[in-house]
Amino acid sequence: PSYTKDDIRKIAKDENVKFLRLMFTDLYGVIKNVEVPISQLDKLLDNKLMFDGSSIDGFVRIEESDMWLYPDLSTWMIFPWGNEHGKVARIICEVYNADRTPFVGDPRNNLIRVLSEMRKLGFTEFNIGPEPEFFLFKLDPQTGKPTTDLNDKGSYFDLAPVDLGENCRRDIVLELENMGFDVEASHHEVAPGQHEIDFKYADALHACDNIQTFKLVVKTVARKHGLHATFMPKPLDRINGSGMHINMSLFDKNGNAFFDENDNMELSEKARYFLGGLLKHARSFTAITNPTVNSYKRLVPGYEAPVYVAWSGRNRSPLVRVPIARGLSTRLELRSVDPSANPYLAIASILEAGLDGLRNKIEPPKPVDRNIYVMDKEERESNGITDLPSTLHNALKALEKDDVIAKSMGPHLYQSFLEGKRLEWEAYRQEVSQWERDQYLELY
Ligand code: GLN
Ligand code: MG
Ligand code: MG
Ligand code: MG
Repeated sequence: PSYTKDDIRKIAKDENVKFLRLMFTDLYGVIKNVEVPISQLDKLLDNKLMFDGSSIDGFVRIEESDMWLYPDLSTWMIFPWGNEHGKVARIICEVYNADRTPFVGDPRNNLIRVLSEMRKLGFTEFNIGPEPEFFLFKLDPQTGKPTTDLNDKGSYFDLAPVDLGENCRRDIVLELENMGFDVEASHHEVAPGQHEIDFKYADALHACDNIQTFKLVVKTVARKHGLHATFMPKPLDRINGSGMHINMSLFDKNGNAFFDENDNMELSEKARYFLGGLLKHARSFTAITNPTVNSYKRLVPGYEAPVYVAWSGRNRSPLVRVPIARGLSTRLELRSVDPSANPYLAIASILEAGLDGLRNKIEPPKPVDRNIYVMDKEERESNGITDLPSTLHNALKALEKDDVIAKSMGPHLYQSFLEGKRLEWEAYRQEVSQWERDQYLELY
């Protein structure tokens, strides 16, 4: 929705809003809040509110730490869990340098930049419909810390007796709706304790804002139910991990540019080239869409997560699927993304890949409608099917080789991202796991 400054002043007053949560996202996708009392509202609306950016991961050095927060008025939203002290509203902000230029290390500013590149090619909107999955675990009643004890035994689309998780998910959906989210589906996922909530597509920027707010709401409501909600990609061995499938389409002034009723798959040439770009760069944007050590424990055969670079109009298992819907809903579904990704960086890299396909007319390989998981290596090779990186280390190496995906972040974010993620990998590879001790301690 679009609000004027006066709208916001009036709503804040009528609704008894007492605190403002100024939100932005750091390099690693973690939401940061600066909370100020409502007395600061006028200052905020006039772009006169400063904060210290030096402690934010991937932001700035100490000597240049003062930064401005510019509120995006369209993101004004009141949290539904106010109390007698009044309500809390959130507003998402763009981070600006002291000299009032946009801060290039702000992932949201970066997405705004990539979207403006898209507009130069004649598109009006990049629409994104995310399908975030998450687990609910019990909180330890003594310490209040999360455990890995599941709270239910349910499974996919289960109609089993209503349990803790079911109630909690309903509560989450109600809170989201109170906040203006359009929830399209909510169901139990394949694994026990695992859930999915799908909300209506939005333009890329607001879809990312929604994803960030969504995670906050899910965690907050879960806690009230004595549960911990986690978006960690693979919390348990031998059980499905949590993905965040991304449905996407490009719109221009004529509507959905991916739809063409005259094509035999009813997919436009633009959709094909976009898909060509997506597949060409899939290996190198994986470090961004699957940015943690743990992400790669999910991308293994047998758990409904993609492992190979391929697409299909029918099969559900490949990296990119074309859901059956056509017309305005024509879209591509990328199934590798997981919810530990920074949505702003992930969507920017996906868009950059697709735009590269459009600019260079990259034809996608033939669709693979057979089950890739029953093919052997030779068969995959003869069908031109490569595999996704198997570790964060390999993913970073693929990213380093791809200038198009580097461009999707700009030099500042790219450097900070690579540095941070290399450190993460280095820290991880020093650790000896229980699996190794179980395998080798007695054998050797
Ligand atoms: N949880 C699966 C994944 O890791 C997806 C399952 C599904 O939505 N069908 O991507
Ligand atoms: Mg789904
Ligand atoms: Mg799912
Ligand atoms: Mg899906």
